[in-house]
Amino acid sequence: MNHKQFERWILDDSPLNEEQQQILDAHLLTCEHCQKLNHGWKNSLKAITASPYIAPAAGFSDRWQSKLRFEKKRRSIVRMRVILFSSILLVLVSLLTYIVLSGSLGEFLANLITSSTHILLFLTHGIANLSNFIQEIPSLVRWSAGIFLVGVANIFVILLVVILWKAKKNQEEWQEVRDYGEK
Ligand SMILES: [Zn+2]
Repeated sequence: MNHKQFERWILDDSPLNEEQQQILDAHLLTCEHCQKLNHGWKNSLKAITASPYIAPAAGFSDRWQSKLRFEKKRRSIVRMRVILFSSILLVLVSLLTYIVLSGSLGEFLANLITSSTHILLFLTHGIANLSNFIQEIPSLVRWSAGIFLVGVANIFVILLVVILWKAKKNQEEWQEVRDYGEK
């Protein structure tokens, strides 16, 4: 006897029509092989549907959320870096294109050196002039200016420390979020 069709009907998920069901039922009454298969299959289906639902571990949602936040942060940083690098690249490429198009790399270099020299000369003159200027200021004013400058420098140092401290704190918080997310 050929059981293939009945085996397919037993194991298939799609429902049988009335006629097929009747034929299968009739066959099951007479065929031990298909009966066993039918029982076994029904029992395994029962076992599968009866298995307890596995609930997500506690805090799963929170961890997932923080992981999501971390991922967002990471992505925005990556995006910023990409924008920065593309800008730099764009400037470099534009500059290169300009040099190549104007067909005068030598001229460009010459101009660059000339302007650098000019700037250097200007700065040197400026410093010389400035020290002359300072020499002419009465010493009291010089001392006051010195103290004032030291004060300004101190403010800058304090600002720098605060900025560094904040950056460190931010990084620590971020690290916490990352650790939490990876848990
Ligand atoms: Zn059979």
